[in-house]
Amino acid sequence: MDINGDPYATYRCRNCQNPVAFRSELLSKKYLAKTGQAFLFSHARNIVYGPKQERNLITGLYTIADIFCSKCGEELGWKYLHASETREKFKEGKFIIEKAKILKEY
Ligand SMILES: [Zn+2]
Repeated sequence: MDINGDPYATYRCRNCQNPVAFRSELLSKKYLAKTGQAFLFSHARNIVYGPKQERNLITGLYTIADIFCSKCGEELGWKYLHASETREKFKEGKFIIEKAKILKEY
């Protein structure tokens, strides 16, 4: 196993163990959200979306939707719907999930 761990590891809602993402979908751990460190994922599942909104983040203006656990309703992070900066376009359609809200299970 490499330092990044098992690609089949599952990230689950810390509150209710609902599986929300897989290790193979993890793109980066170098993000910050409300509670501190956050991960960027290419996909997420078993989530529900809050209303679309504009948010000014450190790297520019984005249209995002907050994401919540579909089982317990815990706020997990957000999905990037649109980035105003060209260099941030790669984030569109991807998910930020706060590290404090999830647990990794092997
Ligand atoms: Zn949950």
